[in-house]
Amino acid sequence: MENQLQILQAEALQEMQQAQTVAALNELKVKYLGKKGSLTAVLRGMGALSPEERPRIGALVNEVRAKLEALLEERAGALKAAELQERLEKETIDITLAGRASFNGHVHPLMLTLDRIKAVFMRMGFAVAEGPEVEEDSYNFEALNLPPDHPARDMQDTFYITPELLLRTHTSPVQARVMQASEPNSPVRIIAPGKVYRCDYDATHSPMFHQVEGLVIDKEINFADLKGTLELFIREIFGANTGVRFRPSFFPFTEPSAEVDISCVICQGKGCRVCKQTGWLEILGSGMVHPRVLELSGYDPNKVQGFAFGMGVERIAMLLYRIDDLRLFYENDVRFLRQF
Ligand SMILES: [Zn+2]
Repeated sequence: MENQLQILQAEALQEMQQAQTVAALNELKVKYLGKKGSLTAVLRGMGALSPEERPRIGALVNEVRAKLEALLEERAGALKAAELQERLEKETIDITLAGRASFNGHVHPLMLTLDRIKAVFMRMGFAVAEGPEVEEDSYNFEALNLPPDHPARDMQDTFYITPELLLRTHTSPVQARVMQASEPNSPVRIIAPGKVYRCDYDATHSPMFHQVEGLVIDKEINFADLKGTLELFIREIFGANTGVRFRPSFFPFTEPSAEVDISCVICQGKGCRVCKQTGWLEILGSGMVHPRVLELSGYDPNKVQGFAFGMGVERIAMLLYRIDDLRLFYENDVRFLRQF
């Protein structure tokens, strides 16, 4: 038995010394020390020994096992280090390979449009004013000459939160807030950009969209100021050759009121599907501030006058970038967004 162990140990040590890979070492570990390994087989055979011999052979088996395990560990460490060294020597970095493109985030087309709109008005000396999106009925409607029974309230599909609170249907309430926060009859020159909400959804309507409201109040402001300001704005955004026309209209908060059209950006006025063959596209609403609206916010219509206008940011972005479905702005499809 002792002899058998000696031979086994010598063989195992030699094979382990000669193993050239970590995988080969693992095989040897199984061969000698595994459940069905040679050394284990010797242990099993100890049942046949006499009680006097058993402890001595047992100790010997443990001694052999310890030697084999120690050598296995040492050889495994050395082989792993050698394999790593070899792999590192083979590895090269090809600096001529093309890099992987990383995608940077960028400005959403609606914000891009809004920034352009703001920039034009700020160059004309307008300040930017903001108001709450959850608005009081009195600011959203009453202060703008829309009393509770006014039929024009039905034109706007309002989201009510309580009978007195609603999601603002336009950015116009900011007008009233700015006037009421100012000294009566003091000049105002603001734009109010922001989100507005209406209960409506299809290719050209979204329950949330963006408007920019404008308000100018001063002494001797007249319709020519309104026209000049909006014509300059439109030509800055759509190009110097853009045609502009004013069409009489009605809004409860302005008198007189006008819708503003631009010559079609697709067909340049010749007539196409987008402009319904008219050559014109409606772009914003405007008018001289109704005297009642001035009075409701503490201004004296005999001392100051003003004009106001409002436009949809989505509408302008759609025309600027030739987008035919409003919903693309909100679906966050990166294939669409990456184009800007
Ligand atoms: Zn057209």
